[in-house]
Amino acid sequence: MPKKHNFGAGPCILPSSVMEQAAQSVINWGGMGLSILEVSHRSPEFEDVVLKTQLLVRELLSVPDHYSVLFLQGGASTQFAMVPMNFLSAGKKASYLDTGYFAQKAIKEARLFGEVEVVASSKDKNYAYIPDQFNLDKASAYIHYTSNNTIEGTEVFDFSATGVPVICDMSSDIFSRKIDVNDFDLIYAGAQKNMGPAGMTLVIAKNEFLNRAKKEIPSMMDYRIFRDNMSMYNTPPVFSIYVAMLNLLWLKDQGGVSGIEQRNIEKAKLLYAEIDRNPLFYGTADVAHRSRMNVTYLAVNKDVEAGFLKFAADQGIVGIRGYRTVGGFRASLYNALPLSSVEVLVNAMATFEKIYSDKTVLELE
Ligand SMILES: *Cc1c(COP(=O)(O)O)cnc(C)c1O
Repeated sequence: MPKKHNFGAGPCILPSSVMEQAAQSVINWGGMGLSILEVSHRSPEFEDVVLKTQLLVRELLSVPDHYSVLFLQGGASTQFAMVPMNFLSAGKKASYLDTGYFAQKAIKEARLFGEVEVVASSKDKNYAYIPDQFNLDKASAYIHYTSNNTIEGTEVFDFSATGVPVICDMSSDIFSRKIDVNDFDLIYAGAQKNMGPAGMTLVIAKNEFLNRAKKEIPSMMDYRIFRDNMSMYNTPPVFSIYVAMLNLLWLKDQGGVSGIEQRNIEKAKLLYAEIDRNPLFYGTADVAHRSRMNVTYLAVNKDVEAGFLKFAADQGIVGIRGYRTVGGFRASLYNALPLSSVEVLVNAMATFEKIYSDKTVLELE
């Protein structure tokens, strides 16, 4: 069966060369006569993988020396609780930007640990935009952003200096565009959207900020434990880290983050142009805040929606059904998705428009 055009929101498409190397290593890793799935995480070979992966993260995102790069587990969802567990205490306040489904989940967890002030929300318009005006209490322990709203299809392009520590959930756009790590005190991301397979969570944090964390934290929830044990306090997600390393090597070959960013811009432009041109579809996010990673759009009616989903499936296009709170379509354009797949989708939309209007004309006659 030919490979599908995978627009899934996560776990996401990975480059086929990475899949092939990973598959080979499951059978026999580096000619060692062992599978990557059965090597000791304390072996020098695997320690080397952790080190290399950390260095690749540092190199690709220009992470300054006074930041730590950590590999955790539990997904970004565990970070929703781990962040306030470390940095928010009873009687203290943290500020959150409510920009969608995942931001709300982060807010819900933070409320277990202290006061949460939602400084701005775009709920009034079904999260179709990023609020850019808000007042921030300087006494806040931190402000929490979601850089890319995976479900609603909006992305933050401006993290203006705020005067309080900045924490950001970058699960769905990390490594897709250049960022200045200096703008943030702590970044977290579930790996399965642009970094590798599910199972590992990346954290990049300023050391001085980590040193200010609360003291009485369970070990597995304490960032400093991971920092001081090279992310190997317990058994790390060996395979997930290994495949992330392969994927980051691939990314480096693509010209790094700035190289892939150019291609991501091109892919998003192509699809948004078709959405704006094609009378059967329309975009849901405000143009200024349109995500380059998750393109959300609706059909003009239910007939077109159902018809196009089926038509697209026949062309080998998968993963474009929108999340239930938004409906319609969501095409995720993560790093490994080739421009050619976007061309297939865009052509399918144009062809469907033609078939649909011919059919409507016939029905009217
Ligand atoms: C997918 C996603 C999450 C949830 O990640 P898990 O690793 O499944 O816990 C959180 N935040 C954002 C922005 C996401 O896209």
